[in-house]
Amino acid sequence: MGYINKWLQNLIQDMKENFKLPKDWNKYLSEVEKEHNLIIKNKAGYYCTNCQQTFKSNRKIDTEMNCPHCNHKFLIKSNRLKKYWYRDNVLMIDKIQDQLILRIFELYSNYNSDKQEFEHSTVEYARQLIYHQYRELRNERVSINQGGPFVHHYEHEGKWRLYDGYYYESVPAGFLYKNNLKQVFKNTEYEHSRMWQYIRKPYTEYYNAKELLRIAKCSSFETLVELKLYNLAKYAEMFWTEGSFQHIFGISKDYYEFMRKHNITKDQLDILKIYPTKDIKLLKYLEKFGEYNLRQIKEYTKLDNFIKYFKENKLKDSRMYIDYLEFAEKLGFDLKNKKYLFPENLKQAHDELEQQIEMVEQEKNNKLIQKRLKKLEKNIFKTKEFIIFPATSAGDLVDESQQQHNCVRTYVDRYAKGRCDIYFMREVENTKKSLVTVEVVDNKVIQKRTKNNGPTSKEQNEFLKLWEDVVLNQKINKANKRILEYAAS
Ligand SMILES: [Zn+2]
Repeated sequence: MGYINKWLQNLIQDMKENFKLPKDWNKYLSEVEKEHNLIIKNKAGYYCTNCQQTFKSNRKIDTEMNCPHCNHKFLIKSNRLKKYWYRDNVLMIDKIQDQLILRIFELYSNYNSDKQEFEHSTVEYARQLIYHQYRELRNERVSINQGGPFVHHYEHEGKWRLYDGYYYESVPAGFLYKNNLKQVFKNTEYEHSRMWQYIRKPYTEYYNAKELLRIAKCSSFETLVELKLYNLAKYAEMFWTEGSFQHIFGISKDYYEFMRKHNITKDQLDILKIYPTKDIKLLKYLEKFGEYNLRQIKEYTKLDNFIKYFKENKLKDSRMYIDYLEFAEKLGFDLKNKKYLFPENLKQAHDELEQQIEMVEQEKNNKLIQKRLKKLEKNIFKTKEFIIFPATSAGDLVDESQQQHNCVRTYVDRYAKGRCDIYFMREVENTKKSLVTVEVVDNKVIQKRTKNNGPTSKEQNEFLKLWEDVVLNQKINKANKRILEYAAS
């Protein structure tokens, strides 16, 4: 610990003496500051606090719009607005004693309602040691508020100290200054990363520096940036670096110009692999359905046919179409026949087949239940007051569900397959009317429910206990025998 402290003290001292801000730092900040502005709706018109131009519009307050003069996108606020502020991180990667340091600044912009303009301030408050799990140094401008670190802009930076708290490390995300990167990365593992090319205009986009530095370590990152496939560089870990274009991207090199021109995303590439096209509008159309769904549809028909069918019929729900195709296949429809492959009314066809499937399944279940009944009917049991008997069909379960307002109907599959037994306990005087729904597993009553999933009465419990002991488990003792005799009399 002592050694580390000494090393850190030395590092902190060295930073104090040698850390400088780049010559174009202020120029860069003034670019970023432009993002911190509003459009103020006055009587005379809409006033942009960035370019100080007034213009006409009818856009609503609290929506965003592009200023027609400076073309920046800002929120619209009323001229009654008194208070408004922005806080954003600005990041710079620096180097000292061969250590890469992530320097974290805060840009704070406060609205002056009298002048209708923003006053900006940028101060540094944290430094993270990239090679040491991003351990954080902080100066005296930071205090911990509810919810996280709070930066005081009008304090001096004071002393830098190692931040030892577990929570509230600064988030290493923000606007990232890029002009020093090539220089700073010299003789580091990032020397060839081309990260300075990856960060493109506008320089006011948020980056997670920690995430970016992790990805930029992959050798494919450099290759992807060099190819200007920036959106794919985000997923550098998922690409090979060796071999042909086809091998790396899963698509012919003929598509490279198209990919570069539109800076295609990982999702778009996944679709290109199953449907090569140079039509960006079509690619974006297909993207809405998702690669996973398209792959499934492709098992039934060519995607060209699918596109034609969906566009002509103005359809949108590819999931419904896949469900329909799966129903049709199960029911043995001839999907080579266009009438079935592309139904005129998809929704209607889908609903019809769904019903048919349900009927087929119910029939299957009923057959299985019939087979099980031979054994289960041996457990029918009756006293003077109550009787208990197994459900005889899927329809029985539906009826019980409706009478009892419970969900026993959904147990059909499990019941048919023998994963549970379902019995109805009723009054001898009124066997049509539901009383208790009973689920049995391994000869044990595991659920007993009266109407609306209510609890059973003392008498009902006694009856069920007797039935469980005597009938299901053949446990006949003296006490049970007496009750049985009484019941039979
Ligand atoms: Zn403007």
